[in-house]
Amino acid sequence: NDKNTKQETYTIATDVTFAPFEYKDKGEYVGIDMDLLRAIAKDQDFKVEIKPLGFNAAVQALESKQVDGVIAGMSITPEREAKFSFSKPYFDSGVVMAVADKDDSVKDYSDLKGKRVAIKTGTEGASFAESIKSKYGFKTVTFDDSANMYDDVKTGNSVAAFDDYPVLAYGVKEGNGLKIVTPKEKGNSYGFAVNQSGNEELLKRFNKGLANLKESGEYDKIISKYLGESN
Ligand code: GLN
Repeated sequence: NDKNTKQETYTIATDVTFAPFEYKDKGEYVGIDMDLLRAIAKDQDFKVEIKPLGFNAAVQALESKQVDGVIAGMSITPEREAKFSFSKPYFDSGVVMAVADKDDSVKDYSDLKGKRVAIKTGTEGASFAESIKSKYGFKTVTFDDSANMYDDVKTGNSVAAFDDYPVLAYGVKEGNGLKIVTPKEKGNSYGFAVNQSGNEELLKRFNKGLANLKESGEYDKIISKYLGESN
């Protein structure tokens, strides 16, 4: 690399708390997304400024071009593809339902009748819950981040929450007080998103860096650092 060339700095928005993909640890943002992004930036010789805005706010910031990209366990959905350009998928997901671990009364969507369900604004989990809500007769209450959504279930204000399998499974293992009770609904894989105009270069570099990390084994190293060897 030409040392005289000024490194580009891209502003990348992310979620506030979405372990193991992004979360604060000792004052720093870590997780699969954060490690991947930093490793790709290093590989492709650019800098990143990370803005933990929360998921919905991050997507809105991208739409209004206040940031260059979003990495936030963001599912590649057809609706979003109409607005943004996505990288190659880098992680598979799917939506599951969780209830308080001491609750044995809610095992299925049909047990939600007349009950309150916690969802997270602007997410695939929220869309799924909204899509079955009238069929199963439950009410929804929205939260801006996953931690507050889980707390609402733990404290018994809501009976269930819908979120991405890898995140809920990690949280359950870490002792968040919930358990997963339904099989994975088909969901979309995670991708890095940029605005459709002006950030083709960033997207190209992300894809190239991702491919390099996969080839070198660094991608697998990052995944197993957070999820163990079995994944
Ligand atoms: N994967 C989900 C989505 O894109 C949730 C992302 C998140 O909450 N950070 O809607």
